[in-house]
Amino acid sequence: IIEIGTPSHSVITTCAYCGVGCQFKAEMRGDELVRMTPYKNGKANRGHSCVKGRFAWGYATHKDRILKPMIRDAITDPWREVTWAEAMEFAASRITALQAKYGRQSVGVITSSRCTNEETYLVQKLARAVFLNNNTDTCARVCHSPTGYGLGQTFGTSAGTQDFDSVEAADVIMVIGANPAAGHPVFASRMKKRLRKGAKLIVVDPRRTETVEGAHYKAAHHLALTPGTNVAVVSALAHVIVTEKLYNEDFIRSRCDWDEFMDYAEFISQPRHSPEAVQMVTGVPAEEIRGAARLYATGGNAAIYYGLGVTEHSQGSTTVIGIANLAMLTGNIGRPGVGVNPLRGQNNVQGSCDMGSFPHELPGYRHVKGPEVRAIFEKAWGVQIDPEPGLRIPNMLDAAVDGTFKGLYCQGEDILQSDPDTHHVAAGLAAMECVIVHDLFLNETANYAHVFFPGSSFLEKDGTFTNAERRINRVRKVMAPKAHYADWEVTQMLANAILEKAGRPTWTYTHPAQVMDEIALTTPSFARVTYDLLDEMGSVQWPCNDKAPEGTPTMHIDGFVRGKGRFIVTEYVPTDEKSGPRFPLLLTTGRILSQYNVGAQTRRTANTTWHPEDVLEIHPHDAENRGIHEGDWVRLASRSGETTLRATITDKVAPGVVYTTFHHPDTQANVITTDFSDWATNCPEYKVTAVQVSPSNGP
Ligand code: SF4
Repeated sequence: IIEIGTPSHSVITTCAYCGVGCQFKAEMRGDELVRMTPYKNGKANRGHSCVKGRFAWGYATHKDRILKPMIRDAITDPWREVTWAEAMEFAASRITALQAKYGRQSVGVITSSRCTNEETYLVQKLARAVFLNNNTDTCARVCHSPTGYGLGQTFGTSAGTQDFDSVEAADVIMVIGANPAAGHPVFASRMKKRLRKGAKLIVVDPRRTETVEGAHYKAAHHLALTPGTNVAVVSALAHVIVTEKLYNEDFIRSRCDWDEFMDYAEFISQPRHSPEAVQMVTGVPAEEIRGAARLYATGGNAAIYYGLGVTEHSQGSTTVIGIANLAMLTGNIGRPGVGVNPLRGQNNVQGSCDMGSFPHELPGYRHVKGPEVRAIFEKAWGVQIDPEPGLRIPNMLDAAVDGTFKGLYCQGEDILQSDPDTHHVAAGLAAMECVIVHDLFLNETANYAHVFFPGSSFLEKDGTFTNAERRINRVRKVMAPKAHYADWEVTQMLANAILEKAGRPTWTYTHPAQVMDEIALTTPSFARVTYDLLDEMGSVQWPCNDKAPEGTPTMHIDGFVRGKGRFIVTEYVPTDEKSGPRFPLLLTTGRILSQYNVGAQTRRTANTTWHPEDVLEIHPHDAENRGIHEGDWVRLASRSGETTLRATITDKVAPGVVYTTFHHPDTQANVITTDFSDWATNCPEYKVTAVQVSPSNGP
């Protein structure tokens, strides 16, 4: 029993884990946080929470936190603790010298979807207004960048179309490549409530996840496809809808480009897209696909929710486009109970994309090539903006290996552990002359850093996160920053140290509210957003502007953001990652309820007791063939590398498929994954890796 005592006061803030965006009362006793209580007026959670947000906040005060800035001349040297002023001088001198020697494009930034909107805005501004290039990218590159491309191309903007309340009006819910029961539990409980009341469920996932069947509900169709065949399945669903004339002609004629629809209909009607034709490729019985397509098209309000099982593929963008096509075909867009909804893994994936952290887009998803858009920011920032898109994360690493990219400021992101092809990431980092890591902990990437700036946790700063339903939630400072400065202040100090050397005007923000005011000034979908409005309304969903002063729960009601919705053909191109005699099984990955991503936070909390290690799920047939028993150590090897972990035998996975989580660094899951990536966005293909599994004596 833990004696908590009586809290002295509480502060309303927002969970820093997943994209549901639950709000909590942080209950304090003096300066000490004693309890996180789910906030009943939180619009995304209505008093509910999961074990991460409620219990896993102890990392913020963990002894592993680094609280002093550190520098070193070479990555083989020991770290030296220095003052903030010395660290800034060291970093600014190196960045300035690198740009003088190797050119303006030789340095860049990486932001994190864990950071606030205001921090992300300032980091991309650091690249564009201080470094004077567009070399800015975000960890959303490795998760939802295909959502940005696919929904941008079809609907005109990269965002979920609905609020979470909408699920309560759905008659059919299709979940593709997501396991909300583990990844987005508070949303999942609202979805399950609707399912228990009779809504029908379709799940498209290689694995029989916790979402497929629950208390008092069971999926009407579970399309347990072979990893890597999403496009074939989604196209087969569309084939049935078009050839059986189940589409909504009135909607398509009024809301979409009819000529493009006709071209698409001709393409998708071809027999090669039929469920029978793709059955061999996808492993899904044709009658299951036909049944699911009929249900989705004729079952009433039909909503699609999808996750990284869609995006993290070589055809991630194609699948997102295919999903948008399904919604447009059936008119399931623009009212409650329908829509296309990416379930964002991290707390601020939506916001980090909204804030212009991609190298080709300024805040608000506007291309840097547009002179009228650049003019808005040039006026606000007093600089000329480079009209050429900058480097994505993989391009930065390639350029580093080639010797043309030399300096990196990486805020809140551990690219060595998170990004694919660990050896290549390490080679890129090792080739740089100035790597600045800004984080709570001395992470894996910091092994290659020359400067370490201590970060601030979500409890130590003001700002906003934007959740998966475009809801902008306030993050409120609960305690003073443990390393003296909040992250936005550190970015400003770095910017100013560089600007002073160049004799240019410095930044003068004194509070993140001023950063939000600048976002509102430059970004039409945020035009009416202020901290006062957020305090008054609790939260607001963008677009929030003169047309929608109280925000927008449902998008695309009268028309798509781009005007007419656009049908785009979705040709299935098999991934280059093939199983074969040497690597006969396909590995796919996911997450578990109590843990979060690479575990940097949850591993430093009591949640680890629920999931102390990653394990490999293997089907009984595959285990028996290899002489593997429950709990045995196994060697998991791919063309890229190998690791060792314990096996668990289960028919949740089909024969030929194995599955693991990626929460523990010892697993080194990204040593195994390939370097294949989405054709449009370079999002890594984490979800398909050909592997061999064999008994092992352990690590
Ligand atoms: Fe809510 Fe997600 Fe935080 Fe859990 S992790 S409390 S579902 S925001």
